[in-house]
Amino acid sequence: MSFKDLNFSNKKVLVRVDFNVPLEPDTFRITDDTRMKAALPTLNKVLNDGGSLVIMSHLGRPKLGFEEKFSLKHIVSHLGDLLNKEIQFCGDSIGEEAQKMSSELKPGQVLLIENLRFYKHETSGNLYFAEELSKLGDFYVNDAFGTAHRAHASTTMVANFFTGKKSFGNLLENEINSLEKVLSAPKKPFTAIIGGAKVSGKINVIENLLDKVTDIIIGGGMSYTFIKAQGGKIGSSLVEDNQISTAKDILKKAEKLGVNLHIPTDTVIADSFSNDANTDECDIFEIPDGWMGLDIGTKSIKQFKEVISRSSTILWNGPMGVFEMESFEKGTKVIAYSVVEATKNGAYSLVGGGDSVAAINRYNLGDEVSYVSTGGGAMLEYLEGKELPGVIAINQKEGFRLNED
Ligand code: AMP
Repeated sequence: MSFKDLNFSNKKVLVRVDFNVPLEPDTFRITDDTRMKAALPTLNKVLNDGGSLVIMSHLGRPKLGFEEKFSLKHIVSHLGDLLNKEIQFCGDSIGEEAQKMSSELKPGQVLLIENLRFYKHETSGNLYFAEELSKLGDFYVNDAFGTAHRAHASTTMVANFFTGKKSFGNLLENEINSLEKVLSAPKKPFTAIIGGAKVSGKINVIENLLDKVTDIIIGGGMSYTFIKAQGGKIGSSLVEDNQISTAKDILKKAEKLGVNLHIPTDTVIADSFSNDANTDECDIFEIPDGWMGLDIGTKSIKQFKEVISRSSTILWNGPMGVFEMESFEKGTKVIAYSVVEATKNGAYSLVGGGDSVAAINRYNLGDEVSYVSTGGGAMLEYLEGKELPGVIAINQKEGFRLNED
């Protein structure tokens, strides 16, 4: 059943969200509340149905035990503003105090518990800790896609204690549905645009996509390993020599499967890794010594634009160049606008993975593609074809044990 069809009237709902927001070091002011806003549809649905909320999250990477800078108390007031409610805060995640506060919650009330990662049992997926958390609610909702690839206590193990009383939240459900839309039955032609720094980080994604796509566009730092694999001269461009045989395998597999693999033919080169470097454009197979490729060239942009414009499904992960520097952002920028254009013409477009999201936001285009995925690592693992523990935990009808300590 879909999250929106559930009724939480008089339910005490234990919700795992991702409130891992950046805070200013001294004032603890929230500098970007995107993740908090993303959870609002789920939280408001429970409250509007007449349920109460016990909200749990992690924040940062505390080493062991309480650390002031990672306390969720810093977000209480802003959460109150977003939900238009008074928020009760418990300075522990489990134990008597948390249970007492939870048991006294009335419909429409909200309790936030302290950072789960102050307990090492959270990341180790400890079953006892998960059981203690489970005492705080009578229904479990997981809305934290960013951690769905981890078998942590609050994202996975806790579901053991909610057989028949657990669900994805609105955000997590949307993430899965949009990923399934491109992976299960994509409307063809289906183009995957894969960029970013390294072949090694994306190899499993490329392999899993090869039998699903019509076209793959390769850009960014990883393209130079492909060029070297084909005998090109790449100067001092980024290269992973230990991935050259992998790149050759991908080229062969793509040919065998009839997938059009588009690798840049020309590149913007620079004499140093700097926005102020001297720049030029050249054939990507002929990069002079002492120069490095930092963006795709004019011909490649034109060719990639054409491929994107005739696509019905588009998946974009990773920038085409060092888009953080103005001198090397053109490839990424034009690709972003091409994906938007194709979306306007009816294509389904999913953009995800940390840096492509940063790129699409840099041009304020987030609302002009079909879906922007929030979970970097989780999205990559999903695209690699892996089953995510947090997803299995909700889908599995019976109890299960993934890990214990
Ligand atoms: P990833 O996290 O693997 O998606 O890589 C994203 C990073 O790759 C961004 O910070 C880009 O600046 C970087 N990148 C893209 N193209 C290049 C390139 N040609 N050389 C070096 N770094 C690049």
